[in-house]
Amino acid sequence: MRIACFETTPTDSDRLSVALSGNDLRFFPEPLSEKNVELAKDCEAISVFIYSEVSADLLSRLPVLRAVATRSTGFDHIDLDACRKRDIAVMNVPSYGENTVAEHTFALILALSRNVHKSYARGRKGDYSIEGLMGFDLKDKTLGVIGTGHIGLHVIRIAKGFGMHVLAFDTHHDTFLSEILHFRYAPLHEVLAESDIVTLHIPLLESTRHFMDRDKISKMKQGSLLINTSRGGIVDNRALIEGLDRGILAGAGLDVIEGEEHIREENQCLHRSCSARKAEHAAENRDLLHHDNVVFTPHIGFYSREAIDRILDTTAENLNAFADGNPTNTVR
Ligand code: NAD
Repeated sequence: MRIACFETTPTDSDRLSVALSGNDLRFFPEPLSEKNVELAKDCEAISVFIYSEVSADLLSRLPVLRAVATRSTGFDHIDLDACRKRDIAVMNVPSYGENTVAEHTFALILALSRNVHKSYARGRKGDYSIEGLMGFDLKDKTLGVIGTGHIGLHVIRIAKGFGMHVLAFDTHHDTFLSEILHFRYAPLHEVLAESDIVTLHIPLLESTRHFMDRDKISKMKQGSLLINTSRGGIVDNRALIEGLDRGILAGAGLDVIEGEEHIREENQCLHRSCSARKAEHAAENRDLLHHDNVVFTPHIGFYSREAIDRILDTTAENLNAFADGNPTNTVR
């Protein structure tokens, strides 16, 4: 098969070249976009990460495409309806780093609870004072986990190690695991009102876009923390900024931010013409990231050596299985 792999590093291409030997492979560091779609025009398969917007328009310019293998769990960057119409298989990596993202969730929680980010910034300036850096214990605090799937359950397991109480909200209840891991499912309003820290682990769907809006943030416990390692679009940026400014939230830990794809292009957005919504996102993100009670990382929750190896191996297995006529991990 002719396969074009976008958003790849040299390490990715080395590992995929071995696992997909026998195929005609091309590797590109940049995301697939309208600007470079020609690179894949004769390919039967493409492999992308989350910054490639696989839209209907773009698919229409890939006439022989039969498979899309995303090197991620989420697939909201791929137009599934358009793929269905063209009978293009879409395969994902259903699990590769539940513990990886859960560990990163705690990196954000601990940074905020112990002011690691503020201490680091001061230390860089030669300031070794401790005024204003008093943190709080996680032990005996309540963690609200929204979404108790692969990642959420690992977050709960780790929280229990810290001696935290856990309240959870999910549309699907796993009573067996709630007994084993000693957590309780509760209605959303109770999770929001009772939790010292709320952490989000639900997928981004049309129905969950802006799940955390002004109304839900206003129902959170005064002075609590909000952590998002799921998808930026789950939280309404404007509502988040307002929640921080009004003191409802004492801080936010964000590995994902609505419109994060535009942050890299921020300068272009400020100085050149770009869509109004893009420019708005860029301005909101600038505002958000300048709050000293916001800890952010550039979508690296998944990014550990072990997780990357698992992602690449599953992606190669998906493409090999598709070539053999037995597709696995299809999401459509
Ligand atoms: P999962 O599918 O295993 O679990 C999602 C859970 O959310 C399920 O239990 C589901 O029942 C629940 N859910 C769905 N809609 C809901 C709703 N409206 N209200 C309440 N619960 C709802 O997913 P996962 O593997 O645990 O991943 C969770 C999120 O993490 C996804 O958004 C994924 O894109 C994101 N993610 C981020 C990174 C990163 O690098 N930051 C890496 C991997 C995954």
